[in-house]
Amino acid sequence: MYNSSSKWAIFYDRLGEKARSLVDPSTGMLSPRYSEDRRCPVCESGSFVARFVKDGFRYVTCDSCGLVYINPQLTQDALNRVYNDKELRLFFMNEILLASGESDQRKEFESRIKTIATYTSNSYPRLIDIGCAAGNFMMIANDHGFAVEGIELDKLYVDYATATRGLVVHKQPLWELDIHEGAFDVVTMWDILEHLPDPMRTLSEAARVLSHGGILAFTTINHECINQRMLKDRWRYWMPPDHICSFTPEILKSMLGKAGFSIVHVKHTYMFEIIEENYLRFLSLSADNDTAAKVSNKVKKGASFVLGRIAQGIFETLKSGDIIMVIARKI
Ligand SMILES: [Zn+2]
Repeated sequence: MYNSSSKWAIFYDRLGEKARSLVDPSTGMLSPRYSEDRRCPVCESGSFVARFVKDGFRYVTCDSCGLVYINPQLTQDALNRVYNDKELRLFFMNEILLASGESDQRKEFESRIKTIATYTSNSYPRLIDIGCAAGNFMMIANDHGFAVEGIELDKLYVDYATATRGLVVHKQPLWELDIHEGAFDVVTMWDILEHLPDPMRTLSEAARVLSHGGILAFTTINHECINQRMLKDRWRYWMPPDHICSFTPEILKSMLGKAGFSIVHVKHTYMFEIIEENYLRFLSLSADNDTAAKVSNKVKKGASFVLGRIAQGIFETLKSGDIIMVIARKI
């Protein structure tokens, strides 16, 4: 998931550049050569309202279910062209996924696995992490007594997770693996759903491989949040071509119901830094290294921390986070 640290910004700038190279300069829109029209990937309706265009990609709102998705979408060939950049993928793995100072991510993953553990009754629950990348979450789940496997389509990450970390990671989508019904107690997907061209297929398949009463836990983006309402098309998570779909708690409830799940837990995370970037620029840290700048930066960090905590509390109550974590039980 994007955050404002410079390495993420570099990564998304480069990805954005690649996506923009598929735009026809004469129209400012994604070239028809690289794109195809599509129906709503959740309810199959072909009826929609155009919402806005960002970097040549048009986001539309489905008339029937309210899903927001990119339409026309990139063809599979064009998507491969955007993502098939070894240098950029190596940068992502080494500078972001495996970078030191990931203690925030570790804390977050630990909190998630502890929450999941409260919904599982087995002593050694079997967990599969879809979109596991280099296996950061799997390592932590393993430490917390889960028997873990992963799915990752990028060979670069699979090789690292298996060869360096000794993890079990499959390189095919769930439906291409020979996994029998009810093989797992937990399925996790962190920041994956918004990237999928067909999120319903993955949810249905997750239901198939879960045991009765098994747990699906995931995070994704929520365009009903306050930040999106204020910033409209400038909201950070409108991020073509990476974010294909965007959800709301209501849409997710309906999707999960269709796939055979019932929601048991929802947590909203409000990204205060988006407000800082757009409205509170005076809290930006100075790059100077003198004593005055150091003191000022300390004060700004403190103010930012306190305001962020207050905002998180308020928006958790209002259920209006940019990111939502959902835990659902197979029924
Ligand atoms: Zn729809």
